[in-house]
Amino acid sequence: MEKVLEPKELWTQVIEKIRPDIGDENVDLWLKPVEVLKLDNNVLWLKVPNRFYLDGIKDRYLKKILAALSALTGLDIALDYEVSKDLKNVLPKTDPIAQPSSQLDFSLGELNPRYTFSSFVVGASNRFAHATAEAISRTPGTQYNPFFIYGGVGLGKTHLMHALGHAMRSQHARSRVLYTTAEQFVNEYVSAIQHNKVDDFRAKYRSLDCLLIDDVQFLIGKDRSEQEFFHTFNSLHGVRKQIVVTSDRSPKEMSPSEHRLINRFEWGVVADIRPPDLETRIAILRKKAIAEQIDVPDDVVLFVASSVKSNIRALEGSLIRLKAYSSMTGSSLTVDTAKEILKDSLSHEVSPPINMDTIMKVVAQRFQVEIRELKGHSRATSVVLPRQVAMFLACTMTDLPYTEVGRHFGGKDHTTVIHAKKKVQRLLEQDLVFLERVNSLRSEIKAVENE
Ligand code: ADP
Ligand code: MG
Repeated sequence: MEKVLEPKELWTQVIEKIRPDIGDENVDLWLKPVEVLKLDNNVLWLKVPNRFYLDGIKDRYLKKILAALSALTGLDIALDYEVSKDLKNVLPKTDPIAQPSSQLDFSLGELNPRYTFSSFVVGASNRFAHATAEAISRTPGTQYNPFFIYGGVGLGKTHLMHALGHAMRSQHARSRVLYTTAEQFVNEYVSAIQHNKVDDFRAKYRSLDCLLIDDVQFLIGKDRSEQEFFHTFNSLHGVRKQIVVTSDRSPKEMSPSEHRLINRFEWGVVADIRPPDLETRIAILRKKAIAEQIDVPDDVVLFVASSVKSNIRALEGSLIRLKAYSSMTGSSLTVDTAKEILKDSLSHEVSPPINMDTIMKVVAQRFQVEIRELKGHSRATSVVLPRQVAMFLACTMTDLPYTEVGRHFGGKDHTTVIHAKKKVQRLLEQDLVFLERVNSLRSEIKAVENE
């Protein structure tokens, strides 16, 4: 009982003693961030991250802590505190002694172990966002605060945010880095209101060194949560804690009702992530192929990278399907098999709609008829087929409804258009030469559009 204890060891025992009473979550939230300084004249000195903690711990757990101390040592030990004022102290550069306890804290949110900087391929489309994220991980809370990342679905926002979180946790051992989605934030807040735990909620969020909030557009229109986030933002930003948010749209594209919030997002750095260019898509595929241990020949990589353009998630999905195929059949991949395997998903790739005039022009040229004949009513066989092909291409290459297509062809009925489309489809299935011909028409139309 009277064994002399190391202060750190003593504190650990205190925590374990009261854990059954207060629960794991409260231990993680309130006691883990506390640092033990010394045990001096029966006074145990604790260092707490800020005043929030000081008040919280005193209000909630002082009696329990004192009782545990007395039970463990048989002595009458008092507590005294030091509040960390030094901002640098909160984010020590490296601290080999400290247990990275806060990082194992599940309440701080999981980071996906695969989403790191080293697995993130950098290209023109994401270079600035990536460089800013890296800079922040080295010196958080300084010049790039807040950091606002925006871009379309599947372009790497979440990946980059997790990578930043990992780097922060490894470079600043004791920093409290929380990753959450705006949706989780809202749910947690609503539940805190329901269970009368708004103070805990605030204490948790306002004690952070770095707050990563994904898909912040979700907060739009959720008045109370948005308000709460606004206050969280102010209180963290006020003490130079790092805030990073992602969104599917730029601050300017967010609706004006979020003025106050948007205004603040623009205080810091705003970076967009655009769809990757061909080289970046190739690099991503190569990297993933290595990670997934699939042998993908260069021409297949090139084929997939040039067919799947919209987003990186789709790119990965294609690779996974190729892997499944080759491991099932044991055969090596070729461009032709890849075409076959990916046929369904590739047809969903949206290319920009084609101009009606281009279709008319190219078809008229190739079939050596006049555009006005395509639009006219002649039933001559030399005109009927080209007209039907043009209608078919109009239906499949533009996003015009049948009635609109009909209008472009001299005011024809939509049933005529549907009939033409079906007829050409049938021919394509029966006649390979015809198929070749229509395919090359398609390529030519696209080429003309891209000129
Ligand atoms: P977002 O959050 O923008 O919708 P994600 O971060 O979820 O997109 O990315 C979708 C997928 O693409 C993830 O599996 C991610 O690892 C991958 N990815 C995105 N960008 C890159 C990149 N630059 N390098 C490697 N993988 C990437
Ligand atoms: Mg995301």
